[in-house]
Amino acid sequence: MLYTKSDEEVGLLRESNLLVSRTLAEIARHIQPGVTTLFLDNIAETYIRDNGGLPGFKGYGGFPNTLCTSVNDEVVHGIPSDYRLRSGDIISVDCGVILNGFYGDSAYTFEVGEVDPAVKRLLEYTKASLEEGVREAVAGNRIGDISNAVQRKAESGGYSVVRELVGHGLGRMLHEPPEVPNYGRRGSGPKMEKGLVICIEPMINLGRKETMQMRDGWTIKTTDGKPSAHFEYAVAVDKGKADVLTTFKFIEEVLNKKQTHV
Ligand code: MG
Ligand code: MG
Repeated sequence: MLYTKSDEEVGLLRESNLLVSRTLAEIARHIQPGVTTLFLDNIAETYIRDNGGLPGFKGYGGFPNTLCTSVNDEVVHGIPSDYRLRSGDIISVDCGVILNGFYGDSAYTFEVGEVDPAVKRLLEYTKASLEEGVREAVAGNRIGDISNAVQRKAESGGYSVVRELVGHGLGRMLHEPPEVPNYGRRGSGPKMEKGLVICIEPMINLGRKETMQMRDGWTIKTTDGKPSAHFEYAVAVDKGKADVLTTFKFIEEVLNKKQTHV
């Protein structure tokens, strides 16, 4: 049996994930060539604390920072550092918070300066695969319906799906059952009920699917050195239509404004 949340608990999870959405928009404002990933991490921590939350990743399993910042061939779990972003990089920013006892957890992959069109297309497909997955997050469907929808969209673009890392349930704990893989068969896995809250987070590679862990004990990279993209939503399963608790609206407002000012 999977733990489903009451309407009140879903409301609290919505607030936690709204804080993550706004934090990622704050990061969007500061992403440009020359800034370090540690600078972005400081901005996020300050913003979260100023808004009454706690960084959800800092100290989790010993992770040292507020954000996971994963650049280019880094898939996820990159540790913020003195690395300076360069034009042409992509950076997955994964952010977690705790607010009123509930976790928020979402991620967005940003372009830095001018990015190769082939890499832009990877980002578009990864985000689209997330949206395809979300459409399946309705009561009565199974987790495999989400997994299959994500995989089909990603592979239709010629990309490969990371196997070693998966989405998860979200609540008073950062990682709750069930696991939400980004690959699988329709009709497989646990059946979803209204009130189940999950993170759907495709990690999609431009090249081969294989990954490896770095000696820092955290950073996951592609073994072929090609770029990887990552987008993540927290979603409450509902009848007929998924209730997406994350929004990229604030991020996209910032990015659109940046474009018109160039
Ligand atoms: Mg995350
Ligand atoms: Mg997650």
